[in-house]
Amino acid sequence: MSKLPNATASIFSVMSQLANKHNAINLSQGFPNFPVDERLLQIHERLLNENIHQYTPMAGLPSLLNKIASLTNKNYQREINTDTELLITSGATQGIFTTINALVNYGDDVLILDPSYDSYEPSVLVAGGKPVRISLNDDYSPNFNRIEAAITAKTKLLIINNPHNPTGKIWNEQDFEALETILEKYENILLLSDEVYEYISFKHPHISVNTRPKLINRAIIASSFGKSLHVTGWKVGYLIAPEPLMKEIKKVHQFLVFSVNSTAQHVITKYLDIVNFDEISTMYANKRALFLEGIQSSCFKILPSEGTYFQVVNYSEISNKNDVEFAKELITKYGVAAIPISVFYKDATDKKMLRFCFAKTDETLINAVKILNNI
Ligand code: PMP
Ligand code: GLN
Repeated sequence: MSKLPNATASIFSVMSQLANKHNAINLSQGFPNFPVDERLLQIHERLLNENIHQYTPMAGLPSLLNKIASLTNKNYQREINTDTELLITSGATQGIFTTINALVNYGDDVLILDPSYDSYEPSVLVAGGKPVRISLNDDYSPNFNRIEAAITAKTKLLIINNPHNPTGKIWNEQDFEALETILEKYENILLLSDEVYEYISFKHPHISVNTRPKLINRAIIASSFGKSLHVTGWKVGYLIAPEPLMKEIKKVHQFLVFSVNSTAQHVITKYLDIVNFDEISTMYANKRALFLEGIQSSCFKILPSEGTYFQVVNYSEISNKNDVEFAKELITKYGVAAIPISVFYKDATDKKMLRFCFAKTDETLINAVKILNNI
């Protein structure tokens, strides 16, 4: 019997392939198309001749673990123990899958907020857990009445994602306080906080679970260098978790991958000495402004967003087609690729919305805007 009977090729693969086939401008799958930092490439070239090609220790290169601990301290004033609380993963995807498979037992409920990133639910199903989907509010803020109402004796884990893919919503102080108040009552519920877009916020700063003393003892936090260093294909991320949880996560990690790509770990370690994460939000804020100003007088309605490199738009003035059909038409007829938002919902609800990725060169964005304005 299939463990994932309903799984098909991910929408990100489907849309990127269709975009390539039709030579469309690809604003669908979330990855940058601008060149990576020259300095990163230079470090890569310099290190390739050195002895960096064998397994690193299972939990990650010690110097990289130390750099991440310093970064976490600088950004969030949290001290982490690199021996017991940190793990380098093959991207956040593997970190999330490993966490869920290490901590969720057969029959456990896992609360997932709808809409949500596509890898959470299949990871829960492979673990034998039961995904329980809870709708966010209409403005994509968390609905704590619904969250609390969904909690039962079987609830093992709540997954949150900030800044949020696909909507760009960022939780505020009150949201975290409300979550803390609820979780105080349920000491066995764990929290998985997906923070891969932690450096991309436009309106108010991202609040990391790393800064919430009431949550960190039960929290696993996932990050991705793919997102924060613009190298999605390198597949390097990390998890931070308290020792008892990390101990279990490492047991699964060592039999899933053992250790993560050594070259990438070495290069990132050196690059972390010179990279400035403060510049990332400004760079993306400029790209976002270019894209939004460009489509402002088009027939696409722009939804509010506070972070990530995605922008959701409503196209109901343009077409009655459902979002999957319209996304396909946008590629085949007009030459621009986007992601239909229904794929982020449990029941594939069509809301006539698309997600565009603006992590692209200015030239790509200008060309896309010209097309979108004429639809
Ligand atoms: N979480 C979210 C919300 C994402 O958008 C992505 C996609 N990049 C991931 C996790 C996976 O990250 P990675 O590419 O590092 O596996
Ligand atoms: N996270 C990326 C997105 O949302 C896709 C990553 C993937 O293709 N798995 O577009």
